[in-house]
Amino acid sequence: MSHTCPLCASDNFADFHQDKRRRYFRCGHCFLVFVDPASFLSADEEKAIYQQHENSPDDVGYRQFLSRIAEPLHKCMPSAQSGLDFGCGPGPTLSLMLEDKGHSVALYDPFFVPDGAALNKTYDFVTCTEAIEHFHYPKREWGQLISLIKPGGWLALMTKLVKDAEAFSRWHYKNDPTHVSFFSRETFRFLADRDGLDVDFVGNDVILLRKKTA
Ligand SMILES: [Zn+2]
Repeated sequence: MSHTCPLCASDNFADFHQDKRRRYFRCGHCFLVFVDPASFLSADEEKAIYQQHENSPDDVGYRQFLSRIAEPLHKCMPSAQSGLDFGCGPGPTLSLMLEDKGHSVALYDPFFVPDGAALNKTYDFVTCTEAIEHFHYPKREWGQLISLIKPGGWLALMTKLVKDAEAFSRWHYKNDPTHVSFFSRETFRFLADRDGLDVDFVGNDVILLRKKTA
């Protein structure tokens, strides 16, 4: 077990929950809930699980799920913009939905579209849906997300949010072994304040952040 929070590097964290498989901690500074790195899957094990996900652009239910982020993000943008879908997975779909609305969207995924060149640019918007809960090194990966966004640009996230320890103990979301970093409203408020972002919780699991211009 490392001795600092993997998101904010504080050493102020404590046990939060324990189940049959894993031990969970919560940071007292940024309120991230995280697992003991000893329970991380290997990259091969992780990829094998993602390949079983049956998300595809032909799935009407998946499109409806993603419309909860595509619609509010599109409304924020007055004209066609260029973006990146970070963590697009094996069946990129949100990118197609935003392209249907006139935007252009590049793809990056560490397992399925490992195009490092996509990370050497900046964008008007970055989307990251059902992906940040998989971050093993959220300090580095969050920093990377923020660095990809132009001043005044948008970061649109989907991830389910931690409420409290009691709800956490009954939460199916924690049982996915690829889920290792659990964010809450408090965590996003901390990050927004620290990193110069405005944050808007537009749904239970939909978060829109905007990088301030100055
Ligand atoms: Zn922390």
